[in-house]
Amino acid sequence: MTLNAPASPRIDPTVDRARLRSFEWRSKGLTSALVPTMGALHEGHLALVRAAAKRADTVVVSIFVNPTQFGPAEDFSSYPRDHAGDLAKLAELGVDAVFMPSTEEMYPEGFATTVSLEGPALGLEADFRPTHFQGVATVVAKLLLATQPDIAIFGEKDYQQLLVIRRMVTDLGIPVAIEGLPTVREPDGLALSSRNAYLSEAERATAPLLQATLRAVAGAVLAGDDPATALATARDTLAAGGFAVDYVELRNADTLAPVADPACEPLRLLAAATLGRTRLIDNIAV
Ligand code: AMP
Repeated sequence: MTLNAPASPRIDPTVDRARLRSFEWRSKGLTSALVPTMGALHEGHLALVRAAAKRADTVVVSIFVNPTQFGPAEDFSSYPRDHAGDLAKLAELGVDAVFMPSTEEMYPEGFATTVSLEGPALGLEADFRPTHFQGVATVVAKLLLATQPDIAIFGEKDYQQLLVIRRMVTDLGIPVAIEGLPTVREPDGLALSSRNAYLSEAERATAPLLQATLRAVAGAVLAGDDPATALATARDTLAAGGFAVDYVELRNADTLAPVADPACEPLRLLAAATLGRTRLIDNIAV
């Protein structure tokens, strides 16, 4: 961030304004880091913003609740929105610019082009949210084109998304470095998420079981137990705790391919499960 950061970030409400701002910074020799978000900012987002400030001269945060990454039965219209609160938090951190495009500009009349994905975009989340990553990748490509950062920072909270974005910028040759940062958690282990606001008090008390269960599987796998058995136990534990389990999987941490030999591969455990009406995802390294 610049030394004399203004109290309030500059707001760029259009792609043209974001491009102009990027040009201004670049012509002054300043590097920039982008943190893409859907708003309703919590400490997980703010950790990415603080990291961005350490890695580049200037920081831009995008806030855009992207309709194309929500399925028809998902929570697009009820997704938490708090622009005033978000801007106050970003001002506090001295963020330089906030890109807040309109849906009409991002998806103009006749919009017909999307990014087509394979590799890490197959399976896991995609089995339950079939159009999700196409929506995410397309909007992230558009956000990168609009803001033209040197670095873009994502959370490992959405681990599959992070790998999908890495793959996309490599494959399309988008000139940006992608950085992933560890998940920020509540003291009881629950990963921070804008959707945690949906949890009832009783569900909030149960929710940390997701992370605790993943840790138990990691311990079992490291102790040499059969991964398939440990994963089946984890699904049973979560179901007994009141979760409707979508998946609990052990995958290659670099590619998300199924694991052939747990002893010789980088490993990641990933899970998604619904508690009441709230779908939670989490993942940990093994
Ligand atoms: P979202 O607003 O949910 O689209 O998230 C914006 C960015 O924040 C994504 O890169 C997420 O992975 C990241 N993020 C969300 N929750 C957390 C968390 N608890 N810890 C770290 N990063 C997070």
